Amino acid sequence: MKRIIIVFIFTILCSVIFAQEKDKKITLVIHGGAGTITKENMTSELEKAYKEKLQEALDRGYTVLENGGTSLEAVVETIKILEDSPLFNAGKGAVFTNEGKNELDASIMDGKTLKAGAVAGVTRLKNPITAAQAVMDKSEHVMMAGMGAEKFARSMGLEIVEPSYFHTQKRLKQLEKIKSTEKESNGNADGEGRGSIKVKYPDSKFGTVGCVALDQYGNLAAGTSTGGMTNKRYGRIGDSPIIGAGTYADNNACAVSATGHGEYFIRSVVAYDIGALMKYKNMSLKAAADEVVMKKLVERGGSGGIIAVDKEGNVAMPFNTAGMYRGYIKQKGEGKVFIYKE
Ligand code: ASP
Repeated sequence: MKRIIIVFIFTILCSVIFAQEKDKKITLVIHGGAGTITKENMTSELEKAYKEKLQEALDRGYTVLENGGTSLEAVVETIKILEDSPLFNAGKGAVFTNEGKNELDASIMDGKTLKAGAVAGVTRLKNPITAAQAVMDKSEHVMMAGMGAEKFARSMGLEIVEPSYFHTQKRLKQLEKIKSTEKESNGNADGEGRGSIKVKYPDSKFGTVGCVALDQYGNLAAGTSTGGMTNKRYGRIGDSPIIGAGTYADNNACAVSATGHGEYFIRSVVAYDIGALMKYKNMSLKAAADEVVMKKLVERGGSGGIIAVDKEGNVAMPFNTAGMYRGYIKQKGEGKVFIYKE
C-alpha cells in the first residue's frame, strides 16, 4: 500500500513538473539593425564578430529568463550588451550627427501593464535603455529628452560618461563620407543658408539594436536603443524612442522592436500596427508582421525590418532590406543568429 502511494505521488509530481516545463515558452529575439548588409560587403572576421556578439546577447537574455527573470529584465540586460559593443549603432559605436555628436534614443515597454519609458537625444548616458527603464519605473512620465533626461538619470544613479566615450573611427568615417557626397550634390554640407535643406540618409546599415521577450510568466516586453541616423540634424528624433513606432508590447497581441528609416516607421506607426492587425483582424503574428514590413512599408518607400514575439512564443523577423542582424533563442537554448536573407 505504502509503495502504491509513493508511486502515485511520484507520478503526480512528474506530471506537474512536465506540465510546467511545457508551459514555459520562454523566447527572446534580438536585432542589431537592418540595411544593405550583404556577404560581398562583409569580411569573414567581421561576420564572426557580429555573430559572436549577437549570440552573447541572446545567451545573456536567455540566462535571465531561464533563472526566472522577467521579460523586462531580459530585454534590458540583452540590450546593454549590444549598447556596450562598438559594432552596433547604439551606446558605444553610435552614429554621428551633422555636428559631430552622438545623440542617443531608447525606449522600453511592458506588455503586461502597458507601461512604457523612453529617452531621446541623450549624450552622456552609457546605457540609454536603463534610463528608459527608469523613466518607466521611477517617474510619472513616458518620455524625457536631452539634458532633462540626463538630469533625471543622474538622480537615479545611472552611469554617466563623457560624450567622447561613444566616439568610434568607423562612425566618424561614415559621417565624413556622407557629408562629402552631400556637398557634391547640394554644394553645402552644413545645409545652412538654403531655402530647402535636403537631408540624405543612405540606405546603408541602420544598426539600431532591439530585443523582445516572452518570460515564463507569460509576459511580453520590448526595447529598442539607437544612435539614430548618420548626419541627422536639428535634434532629429527617429522612431526608436517612440512608443508605437519603434517599440510596442501588449500581452494581448505581441512585442515588437523595429529598425529602419525612422521617418517612415513613425508615419506608419509600425510596431503598434502589427499588434493592431493581430487584435482587430485576428491575423497571426507572421501575417501581421509581413503585412506591415513587406507590404505597407514597401509601398510607402520605408526600408527596414522588425523583430516580434507573441504570447505563444511565435517569432517573426521580417525585413525589406538586403540583410538584418538578428537572432532568437527559445526554451532549452534552441535558436540561431542570422545576418543575410535565408
Ligand atoms: N530607426 C532608427 C532611426 O531612424 C535607425 C535605425 O534603425 O538604425 O533613428
